[in-house]
Amino acid sequence: MAKAGVVCLSCDPSHMNRVLVPLELDGSMPLLGAQAHRLDGQTMGTTWQVLWVAAGPSRSEPVRVAVQQELDLVVAQMSTWLERSELERFNRAPAGTWHTAPEAMAEVLEAALWLAEASGGAFNPAAGALVNLWGFGPSPRYTDPGFVPPTDGAVEDALRLNDWRALQWQGASRRLYQPGGLRLDFSAIAKGYVVDRVSRRLKDMGLPHSLVEVGGELRGQGLRLGGQPWWVDLESPPAATGSARLPTTRVALHGLCVATSGDYRRVYTHGGVRWPHTIDPRHGRPLANGLASVSVLHRECLWADAWSTALTVLGNEEGVALASAHGIAALFVQREPDGRLTETLTPAMKELAG
Ligand code: ADP
Ligand code: MG
Repeated sequence: MAKAGVVCLSCDPSHMNRVLVPLELDGSMPLLGAQAHRLDGQTMGTTWQVLWVAAGPSRSEPVRVAVQQELDLVVAQMSTWLERSELERFNRAPAGTWHTAPEAMAEVLEAALWLAEASGGAFNPAAGALVNLWGFGPSPRYTDPGFVPPTDGAVEDALRLNDWRALQWQGASRRLYQPGGLRLDFSAIAKGYVVDRVSRRLKDMGLPHSLVEVGGELRGQGLRLGGQPWWVDLESPPAATGSARLPTTRVALHGLCVATSGDYRRVYTHGGVRWPHTIDPRHGRPLANGLASVSVLHRECLWADAWSTALTVLGNEEGVALASAHGIAALFVQREPDGRLTETLTPAMKELAG
């Protein structure tokens, strides 16, 4: 998880080197006599916050209840940290068994399988065995005393268990097959999905002006107080000492989402090697391609979240090519051998920059 952006409630686009605005406006009008509201909490090992603007005083309790219901539903179905989640029940099931996925889990699985194919396995929802092996699952954790990275043999064994095609997914009946030892992990997509769900839920409750964030993945709808869009500054990765930081990019999240994957949070060093929490499932090892971060803008946060991980794994060249072929707006930040940071924008991202 990297923090995709910092919400700025009083800022506007002036004095910015780069400002990104969506190509379509949704026609929403600022509310007269509006008031701003905010709630926050913890979920999925991280934090969430919801900001919204409503005409006149609005009770926050129904919003808190609605947000909590959406978070609870996604956790109950898709958490790898909850022994009794649907996902964990599947992960622990004996070889040769068939399972029916509940609707939300099926929706996320279909998106994840599509991206697994499109990215040639760079994004892989079946990489749970590898994720655990490298200490990024619930147990053992890389932060546990005495934790050491796995041996080559253990990596080879886990690599045999991460074939997403072995799931034999049957979309119409939502059935999937446990070939034995295959572990699903939706951590790179579920946060984005729940952000979308919360945002839609607010809209259904008559609250179309909102900003929803879970673990740094953000979705903005409508306008903030004062008629401005929800402005968010993309966090730029830390530069090496002595090197300049990159210019800040300010994005108008108006019917738009942003997610960032990065190599500088949730990372450990062992034997002089940095092991970040994103794994290349094609080789079974954490990334070492020099990408510091990838930010993706998309209308759906599920896709922003999943694409940012896929592109991080693919790296600067392959990633930019695939994102461009799919019209994905992405900003790649590369750590050069001399410590400098350099940026690449895909054509769709350049279009947003005007
Ligand atoms: P980031 O914000 O850096 O993308 P996320 O929390 O969205 O981080 O996703 C990282 C998590 O996704 C890891 O902790 C792991 O559980 C899982 N993961 C790691 N590598 C992959 C991959 N190649 N494909 C799908 N999921 C992955
Ligand atoms: Mg992600």
